Amino acid sequence: MVLAERVSKSFGTNRVLRSISLKVDPGEVLCIVGPSGSGKSTFLRCINHLERVDAGRLSVEGQLVGYRQKGDRLYELRPIEAAHQRRDIGMVFQRFNLFPHLTALENIILAPTRVKRSPKTEATARAMELLARVGLASKANEYPAHLSGGQQQRVAIARALAMDPKLMLFDEPTSALDPELVGEVLDVMKELARTGMTMVVVTHEMGFAREVADSLVFMDGGIVVESGNPRDVLTNPQHERTKAFLSKVL
Ligand code: ATP
Ligand code: MG
Repeated sequence: MVLAERVSKSFGTNRVLRSISLKVDPGEVLCIVGPSGSGKSTFLRCINHLERVDAGRLSVEGQLVGYRQKGDRLYELRPIEAAHQRRDIGMVFQRFNLFPHLTALENIILAPTRVKRSPKTEATARAMELLARVGLASKANEYPAHLSGGQQQRVAIARALAMDPKLMLFDEPTSALDPELVGEVLDVMKELARTGMTMVVVTHEMGFAREVADSLVFMDGGIVVESGNPRDVLTNPQHERTKAFLSKVL
């Protein structure tokens, strides 16, 4: 589903990703952990071509991200083509990024009606289903300001799902939340994993990683230092850097 082959990315002289290779199979959950500045968000942003990779290649469902190949030449997609490709990839950020002037329901139907041109009645019915799925059917007509952080994040997840993505990317979806609200968001993500959604999750929630992830990647300094079964990596890290990091977060 996701294939990264020797992906590198610099900002000026700052080499943020240094030859990252990894694979996520359909229906799998990959968790990425690592210290601040290790390149986790940049890597996620490369997966949906919000950042351009400098070298290596990334593909999602066998499709090269951001480029079209003709013979042995690569051509970058035009913005409208990249946007089209991005439709199949849902992304949830640390900050919920809901539109403050729209209700929960309106936030969710915006992209399906505008981008996919789904009829409003259809989009609304689907949005209500998704709100029920994230436990917020009763909050459809609330504005974000009247929802807790955990509720806003659950609406953000429902909004991403409304586009029927094949892949969901999460960038520290619970780090901005008060501790008592983290569980409700993780529960929604667990449920999503159970339904077979392919997910790449940057998180510091090691319990979630251990319980839900099929594989865990530890990144530091723009490289994959260690990866494998989450239980193995968490209980028996092989590298000093992984040990040092885990001793701080566990
Ligand atoms: P955190 O845990 O703090 O979110 P991260 O692992 O997600 O960190 P990134 O946000 O990917 O790290 O950043 C990696 C490096 O790239 C950092 O040194 C950062 O300053 C730099 N960086 C990220 N985005 C940009 C940008 N748009 N322009 C310049 N430098 C950037
Ligand atoms: Mg980040």
